Amino acid sequence: MDRRKFIKSSLIGATGIAVAPEMIAQDVSAGVIVPGAVSSDGKAGAVSTDVEKHLSVSGYVKEPSHKVPVVADPDVVVVGGGAAGVAAAVCAARGGASVLLIEKTNYLGGLWTGGLVLPVLATYGKGRNEPWDKAVRGICSEVCDTLLDKGWAVNPLNPRVDPEATKYLLDKMIYEAGVKVLYNSTAAGVTMSGNRIESVLVDCNTGRIAIKCRMVVDASGDGLVFNWTGDPYEARRYHMTIVGRAGGCPATNDEIPIHEMREMHSGTREAMDGLDVFKVSEKQQKGRFDLFERVQKMKTKPGYENAYLMEIAPTTGLRVTRVLDSLHNVTLEDSMEWTEYPDVIGMSGVCDPFMYKGRKITRQERPVWQIPYRSLIPRETQNLLVAGRCFGYDQGITWDAREISTCMVTGQAAGVAAAMAVNSRCAAKDVNIAGLQKALREAGVRLDF
Ligand SMILES: Cc1cc2nc3c(=O)[nH]c(=O)nc-3n(C[C@H](O)[C@H](O)[C@H](O)COP(=O)(O)OP(=O)(O)OC[C@H]3O[C@@H](n4cnc5c(N)ncnc54)[C@H](O)[C@@H]3O)c2cc1C
Repeated sequence: MDRRKFIKSSLIGATGIAVAPEMIAQDVSAGVIVPGAVSSDGKAGAVSTDVEKHLSVSGYVKEPSHKVPVVADPDVVVVGGGAAGVAAAVCAARGGASVLLIEKTNYLGGLWTGGLVLPVLATYGKGRNEPWDKAVRGICSEVCDTLLDKGWAVNPLNPRVDPEATKYLLDKMIYEAGVKVLYNSTAAGVTMSGNRIESVLVDCNTGRIAIKCRMVVDASGDGLVFNWTGDPYEARRYHMTIVGRAGGCPATNDEIPIHEMREMHSGTREAMDGLDVFKVSEKQQKGRFDLFERVQKMKTKPGYENAYLMEIAPTTGLRVTRVLDSLHNVTLEDSMEWTEYPDVIGMSGVCDPFMYKGRKITRQERPVWQIPYRSLIPRETQNLLVAGRCFGYDQGITWDAREISTCMVTGQAAGVAAAMAVNSRCAAKDVNIAGLQKALREAGVRLDF
């Protein structure tokens, strides 16, 4: 029996351990309806192959079955409150849906604020009529323009933000849109009903709770939800960077809001398997040693006697892990050839030069590119949309596709589409494209070259 079929007949947890179907049957009375099908090979307690691919497994234990209380039933659950998740939650709520946002930390912004990766890149690229054209508008512009207007960011082209001001603004937007947020709450699995997610399971201080919903947006950055549903994806490797900030340095106007500050990076040279928790933890620890020790050395330089390590980013700087194998993964060719999609939901700017067809293409030569709605849609699960750094794109376009602005573009489209799917009682893939595009245009999103 293949993994997907097995998973669909099981309750799937954060541990990756699928609970024996016969044990699940006892729980139906608890209000969490879980599919009761028994795997045809009769094997119970199988482990997600994801764990087996990334860690060495020395044996198995069986997780006991238990009842999970349902405590909320919003229209839309958004998993993850990074740049993509905030955009999705705010836009779904503005579209009339009741929305619950689940966030494992106690702040919004994900890598942007918690990873201290502060400049918003990939907002511009070469345009058809303009040499340097603004591709990203909509909610990303709304956030960046507010930060710039208030003096909480510098550099209008690629705003470099004050992380605490950004957390404040994102929280205000969530609050004003009427989104309910659960902080310190880790999404831990899903229950399925056929090809639909029926509830999202959440671990929090209160215990394990279930949230029933009609649509889910996976904005976890790491594709947790589409991993649980068994939708296909690719696991990618990328180098990892721990960001820190040293205070007490000679003044400069480059940094905000603290002018006596220096940003520091401690990275791996090799591409890391971000799904290997042992390796990632080891690199995080080494990064902390490295940054602290570098600041001690810094103090011996004239002018830096008062330097100190102010903070190390609370979110580990993992760039990419799981990337959805969507209905249409954006390719590097698509991005270079002005590909126009009938289901375009937004555009991305560009970030770096690279080799293309044997020639080095500078940043200025790279066109803005379109993002199709299909790249947010998983192949199997009907009520799931994916936004942020784990939506569907090829390896070649990775650098642009996961930048903060592009994450917000995909988040905005996923949120608007989720609200429409709820309203129309349809699957994500059946959302009316003309209606979706009209709503996005009205919200200021750029769709055309
Ligand atoms: C070192 C580094 C430097 C970078 N530099 C730049 C740059 O200069 N400019 C730029 O534009 N981009 C940069 N990027 C890329 C960019 O920061 C990210 O790709 C982007 O912020 C990702 O946004 P996201 O919302 O998709 O995911 P994330 O920011 O990863 O957000 C995911 C959210 O989901 C939450 N979450 C995860 N699991 C769970 C769970 N089980 N339950 C509940 N919540 C969960 C997380 O806490 C987080 O808040 C950089 C990335 C790195 C790592």
